[in-house]
Formats: sequence, structure tokens, C-alpha cells
Amino acid sequence: MDAADRALVDGVRARQLRPLAKAITLIESQRADHRVRARRLLEALLPHAGGATGGAIRVGISGVPGVGKSTFIEALGLYLIERGLRVAVLAVDPSSSLTGGSILGDKTRMELLSRNPAAFIRPSPSAGSLGGVAEKTREVMLACEASGFDVIVVETVGVGQSETAVAGMTDIFCLLQLPNAGDDLQAIKKGVMELADLIAINKADINPTAALAARAQIRTALHMLRPMSPNWPVPVLTLSALQKEGVIEFWDTVLRYRDAMTASGEFAAKRRHQATAWMWELIDAGLRHRFREHPQVRAGLPGFIAAVEKGQTTPSAAALELLGHLSGLGI
Ligand code: GDP
Repeated sequence: MDAADRALVDGVRARQLRPLAKAITLIESQRADHRVRARRLLEALLPHAGGATGGAIRVGISGVPGVGKSTFIEALGLYLIERGLRVAVLAVDPSSSLTGGSILGDKTRMELLSRNPAAFIRPSPSAGSLGGVAEKTREVMLACEASGFDVIVVETVGVGQSETAVAGMTDIFCLLQLPNAGDDLQAIKKGVMELADLIAINKADINPTAALAARAQIRTALHMLRPMSPNWPVPVLTLSALQKEGVIEFWDTVLRYRDAMTASGEFAAKRRHQATAWMWELIDAGLRHRFREHPQVRAGLPGFIAAVEKGQTTPSAAALELLGHLSGLGI
């Protein structure tokens, strides 16, 4: 590692935001030389990231566009900062991989929080990396932990794949819901509600009665799902992010969750599982990439696809034949 990168590591560890931002830019870069530097940087930062159970508490927050995620994260962030904590907000934005644009990335969101020196807000990186939309976010999270952040919020829009990814990298996954009848059914249909460790119905100020009705409905719906942990019945809270109501209760619930999961051993087990699952995901993605890039596979693939489509060969025979080229990869 050269002197400049050494200084970057020192700066990150000294809790300076500019070196952290620079380190993250390196981590997010697709350039081959940047990737080598980023890997060394992360190796140097990892011992300071808090280990298997330490570091920051990682909070995932999801919900449809307009539910009030940024309003809520700003209110929560400011509350946590008042309590002397440092807060990083990262985003996983599935839209950037589809459209090149971004639902979450615009700069005007969380204005007060973004100007607070105890906060660090990083929009979603452009996608296109091997491990999917969230590949870099995990590494960015480590950099933030090495930089002494106490709470890391990972925000995502409710679009299936990204929610699973965020639930798979956070300690507690929270779903924000609107007080609309039927909204909860949508969440169940998409399989999102069963990922949630905590559900909060936002905009309760607009119609408190509707919010309470939605809460009762969601509680009933939750009985149909198998709980993630026998030690944690999923709480359903009501919130008004705009009026800053329910923020304290939300945070107390997060801490209660951490305590319950720590007591049962599930907190550490979840992180262990997330780390190894992530390794396997990267191995799978790397293998698939190498396979597709292999000259003989590239040359043979169209022919095999055509043969499978025409029924001239079975999918399993074609797969076996093509996978045979992997022996040429030296693995
Ligand atoms: P996001 O797309 O999920 O990040 O949603 P935003 O935080 O941008 O909020 C969308 C709109 O809902 C904004 O106009 C907010 O001011 C409004 N909003 C957010 N939370 C509340 C709330 O608790 N009550 C009311 N009445 N409006 C809210």
C-alpha cells in the first residue's frame, strides 16, 4: 500500500469524512487498479470494523416510494445524533441498475441530516457489479464501521430483490408501510413482510384511526407467517415521520431487538450466516462470470442453446458438456 492509501486508512480511522468518502469512491470503482487498492484498503480497515458482533448496529429500512423513508431516516438520524451517536446512511437502489437513474440518489433528501457533521450520507453507487445491486454496500458498511459510526442505516426501495439483499446485510430489517388497507397484502404477496423484523406504519398523523386499523390488520396478517425468530414476535408500530412521533419508540424497539437477539445468540449467528452467505454469493457470481467469459463456452453456447430449443439435446446434457470446459479454468 502506498503512502496516499495509508493516509486514507488513517483518515478513515480518525473519523474524518473526506478520507471516508474517498475510500468509498475507490471501493465503488470498477477500474481494475482501483479494485486492487480497494481490496488492500479493506484488509487494513477490517480489523477496526468491530468484528463479528461489534461495530455499528446495522438497520435496514425499506418501503415503497413516498412512504416516508427519507423523512423518517432524517428524523431518526437527528434523534440518534442528539443522543451522541454517529449515523451513516447508505442506499441500495435497484433502479440504477435498470434505468441508469436513481430513485434514492437525489441530493435534496435529508437536508438537515446531510449537513450534520455526525452524519454521513452516501447515495447508491451505480450498479453493474458482479454481485448485484448490493455488492459494494457491504464493503462500504465495513469502511463506515472502521470509521467509528455507531448506527448504519441501509435504505432501499421496495422492489423485491434489493429488499432481500438489504435484509441479508443488516441486523434488523424494518418495513415502513402506509396506512392503506391492502398495502399489507401487497407486502405479503411479494414476500417482503416475512423478511421484516419490525414494521412501522408511517403517516399516522393523517388519519390515526386508519393507522390503528392498518396495524390490527398487519398483526393479523403476521400470524399467517412463520416468525423469523421464536424469540421475537414482530412488532407493528405507528409513526409520523413528519411530526417526529414514534421515533423514540422505534429506536427503543431496535435496541430491544438487539438485546433479545444477543441474549439468544441469534445476533452473532445472523452475522456469521450473512458473512458466509455473502462469500458464497460472490463465489457463485465469480464462477458464472468466468464460465461465460471462457472462450470455448462463448464459442459453443449459441449452438447448445439452439439444440436445446429444438429439442435435439437435453438441457442437462448441454449443461454437462458446457460445464466440462470449467476444468480448463484451472479450478
Ligand atoms: P420516500 O420516497 O419513502 O423517501 O418518502 P419521503 O420521505 O420523500 O416522503 C414522501 C412525502 O410524504 C413527502 O412529501 C413527505 O413530507 C411526506 N411524509 C413523510 N412522512 C410523513 C408523515 O409521517 N406524515 C405526513 N403527513 N406526511 C409524511
